[in-house]
Amino acid sequence: YDTTSFSWHSKLVEYSQKHFNIHSFRPLQLPIINAALDRKRDLFVVLPTGGGKSLCYQLPALLEDGLTLVISPLISLIRDQCYHLEEAGVKAAYIIGASTKEEVNQVQDDMTKNVLKLLYVTPEKIAKSKRFMTKLGKLYENGNLARIVIDEAHCCSVVGHDFRQVKFDHPKDCKPDYKKLNVLRTVFPQTPIMALTATCSATVMNDVMNILGMRNPSDPINGALVFSAPLHRPNLRYRVLPKAEKHEDVIKGMVKWIQKHHSGSSGIVYCLSKKDTHAVCESIIQESQGRIKCGVYHADLFEDDKEEIHTLWRENKLHVIVATIAFGLGINHPNCRFIIHHSMSKSVEGYYQESGRAGRDGLPADCIALYRGQDATRLTTLVVGDLNGKENVYEMVRYAQDYRTCRKIFFESYFSNDPTVSLSQYSGRLLNTTSMDQPCNVCDNCLRRHQGESIIKKDITMETMTAVKIAHATRKNTDDRITMIKMINYMRGRGHKKAGLESLFKSEDVQSTKGKWTDAELEMILMRLLIDGYLWEDFHFTPYSSISYLKPGPIAKQILPLKKGDIDQSDGHGQVI
Ligand code: ADP
Ligand code: ZN
Repeated sequence: YDTTSFSWHSKLVEYSQKHFNIHSFRPLQLPIINAALDRKRDLFVVLPTGGGKSLCYQLPALLEDGLTLVISPLISLIRDQCYHLEEAGVKAAYIIGASTKEEVNQVQDDMTKNVLKLLYVTPEKIAKSKRFMTKLGKLYENGNLARIVIDEAHCCSVVGHDFRQVKFDHPKDCKPDYKKLNVLRTVFPQTPIMALTATCSATVMNDVMNILGMRNPSDPINGALVFSAPLHRPNLRYRVLPKAEKHEDVIKGMVKWIQKHHSGSSGIVYCLSKKDTHAVCESIIQESQGRIKCGVYHADLFEDDKEEIHTLWRENKLHVIVATIAFGLGINHPNCRFIIHHSMSKSVEGYYQESGRAGRDGLPADCIALYRGQDATRLTTLVVGDLNGKENVYEMVRYAQDYRTCRKIFFESYFSNDPTVSLSQYSGRLLNTTSMDQPCNVCDNCLRRHQGESIIKKDITMETMTAVKIAHATRKNTDDRITMIKMINYMRGRGHKKAGLESLFKSEDVQSTKGKWTDAELEMILMRLLIDGYLWEDFHFTPYSSISYLKPGPIAKQILPLKKGDIDQSDGHGQVI
């Protein structure tokens, strides 16, 4: 889903720079703005204070025809925003209780003339001013009411929330007026509503949506879209560790780590397959000589067994659940101290969600992903039929192979660009949020930086040439397709003669990498080449599974003298030269 493909994209970028001096977007801003512009759908936006909610309706207001009506209880904010908008060359106005008759007339005049882009009002204008509502009605009938924005939307709700969160600086308390905002949907049924808040539980959100008559989010076509920022959880310590080559070594490392850091506490080990969960669980029990109480969970268990595992885990009679991602929905174990991914997730969203089950109590917890390049091609073959399946895995690989970027910043920038993220994935209470763009200081990459560990850069030009040339030389083979394992063997100079690649190794830029890299390192190099497009994954289907093969990728033409037709990406996504 390429956001730059939207017809309004260049204008959006231009306006955000010209009017707001904004050069990059904060998490979720772009997806929200695009969602607003894409369809006339209702939107519910939960972003922390300072998260940049205003831009989410100001930019659409600029890009759309008609007037955007903003309802806000905060007069100082209204004044402030209108001032800044006028400064930025945007026609904006407000009507508040203290507005004089002349001011009100002027604004209503401007409304009739259709020159305003944004109009801010306090809720009592909607609740009490018939004249104003008539004016709006005219606008609506002429198709000039673009959107209704409700700021501090949680004020509509009467259930379980704290009014003290909002400092009303209105002379009269306007809370009761918020409840009357339900008329908006009745009177202007076609106008999309955008509700914004910084603080909102799922219950309050449902209540607000009901009161405002917003369309039910479960309706995939017309339902409201819900956006909530991925909230930083400062107690989660993210890290990626290289996964050992042998199963026993993986288990040994895991058991040692659990016993050292989280002996007797609860955790989850996520595996890719049901088969893996059984193997890992048995090995953990064996290696820890039964000291780590461990159980398996996946979709194929009987309901009774699932229930029992849940209970035992909640009661801390089982320490570690070795599970597929089937385990997690509906679990509520506040003191889960660690989540280990034995194999990484199929997407960054998935990983964020799964790892986020640790440390719900706010106390420190560890989120560890064990990474090995060959797991990635195992994952891509599993998601081959999914929309963006391969790209999602590649993003996860980017995370796993990143030794520099603070993990929190990685998530933030990831979620600021993904338009498909919605609260359905992040619902729950808001946890302590800290400012955006600031490193977390507790993840592996932050620790590396603090400890002054230098990252050794290595030149992989030769490896790139070697891999791409092997992929190129074998691209048409049907009996000797190149899997990642085969590629590594050939690169090491194992079996390449038999494959007829001997002459290739005589050229200057092809060399056996014998002894220079471990298998795991070569896998990482190949994954990097795949992500960057030097190589391309081609999938071959058998009745039982699919296999991933390496072919030259779209970028290969930059380093190889290729002819038309040399790159044939049969899944059709590639750039054919
Ligand atoms: P909220 O209403 O969510 O608390 P605001 O909309 O008031 O947040 O934005 C907070 C501040 O951040 C404002 O000064 C705004 O100009 C600034 N801001 C918003 N989005 C961006 C961005 N993408 N880049 C830089 N600054 C931004
Ligand atoms: Zn960090």
